[in-house]
Amino acid sequence: MKQVIGARCTICGHMIAAEPGITVCPKCGGILDIEYDYDFIKSKLTKYDLMDREEQSMWRYMEFLPVEGPGTLPKLRVGMSPFYRADRMAGLLGIGTLYIKDDGINPTASLKDRASAMAVVKAEEAGKTTIACSSTGNAASSLAGNAACAGLSTFIFVPSRAPKGKVAQLMMFGAKVILVEGSYEDTFRISAEAIDRWGWYNRNAAINPYLMEGKKTVSFEIAEQLNFRMTDYVAISVGDGCTIAGVWKGFKDLYAAGFIDRLPRLISVQAEGCCPINTAAAAGTEAWTPQEENTIADSIAVGVPRNPIKAIRAIRESDGVTVNVSDEEIMEAMRLLGRNAGVFAEPAGATGTAGVKKAVELGLIEKDASVVSVVTGNGLKDVNNAIRAAGEPLSIRPDMDELVKALGM
Ligand SMILES: *Cc1c(COP(=O)(O)O)cnc(C)c1O
Ligand SMILES: [Zn+2]
Repeated sequence: MKQVIGARCTICGHMIAAEPGITVCPKCGGILDIEYDYDFIKSKLTKYDLMDREEQSMWRYMEFLPVEGPGTLPKLRVGMSPFYRADRMAGLLGIGTLYIKDDGINPTASLKDRASAMAVVKAEEAGKTTIACSSTGNAASSLAGNAACAGLSTFIFVPSRAPKGKVAQLMMFGAKVILVEGSYEDTFRISAEAIDRWGWYNRNAAINPYLMEGKKTVSFEIAEQLNFRMTDYVAISVGDGCTIAGVWKGFKDLYAAGFIDRLPRLISVQAEGCCPINTAAAAGTEAWTPQEENTIADSIAVGVPRNPIKAIRAIRESDGVTVNVSDEEIMEAMRLLGRNAGVFAEPAGATGTAGVKKAVELGLIEKDASVVSVVTGNGLKDVNNAIRAAGEPLSIRPDMDELVKALGM
């Protein structure tokens, strides 16, 4: 893997070899970050090579990833999700140009598949046959699906509040599922103990530096789908912070390798009822404080974020914007996406879009700005909240008079 230089600690700067089983910094416990040799990458790949490439998955960008070669890669098709220019939505949100990157169209219906596909590769390289994680739901279902395809077994810890759709996915993919009656924080803690005890491969995004490397592929796709002409902003919902950190890393990689000539500013969107990362970023500090987990957007209801430092740095480095939205605003964004773009998002999936609308209203971004909003998860995962946002249908007996009355026309 000549493209990878090593893994550097984000806290103390200590550098170690990028072995497949690495977790946190052996010196200080800080989260590691994989470093690349961009001159080497440039010598292997140009953006014109990419345009000719046939691979239609996240592995299209192999030269930018910590993987050996095509022979070892998983079969499930993750990535190359649809990218739409959404003019009517742009009008409704009051901005110049809006693009929607629909990452709900992944094998297990969330952006998390990008990280889980990477986790599966790394677990196999590390010689492990069992992978475990704790998750608000989507990391779990994506790990279960990607591991199932690769023939690995999984132990999954989710808070008992996880929506039924996500739990159904876990069961269908054959995971060993443990519902934890407690918060995400409680769930994370017990999973960490179990992983230690039984020596499973750890897919917890905060511990495992490779997961962000998978997530960053969403940015490679966005750039390519924009013909490498970046928008002013990219909006994304934030929970643990790994996704926004990955998004930023992807753009920085492309910039360092000369594929794009400017970096977008990030719009970091959290729920008003749970926004520890935005609170710290807005205050210009990396010293965040835990919060309650009070929002319908279960995937980003993370009161004790596991990757706050990388996320806060991503927001700062990109000269980013932070915006917090209410559950009502999230549900409005779900309706707007559904009714004007035909895109069905789970609450956390629509949160980025809700943030774009609010950022314009608050004057945080310019009215003529161009924005990519990443939809991170599909609405079928959480049918209860979808109905809550969209309403109940008319209901009649099979009788024409009743239909006429119900329709009022
Ligand atoms: C996990 C997730 C996020 C946020 O990602 P973090 O890495 O936790 O910040 C956003 N939306 C959806 C649908 C998710 O599953
Ligand atoms: Zn360290």
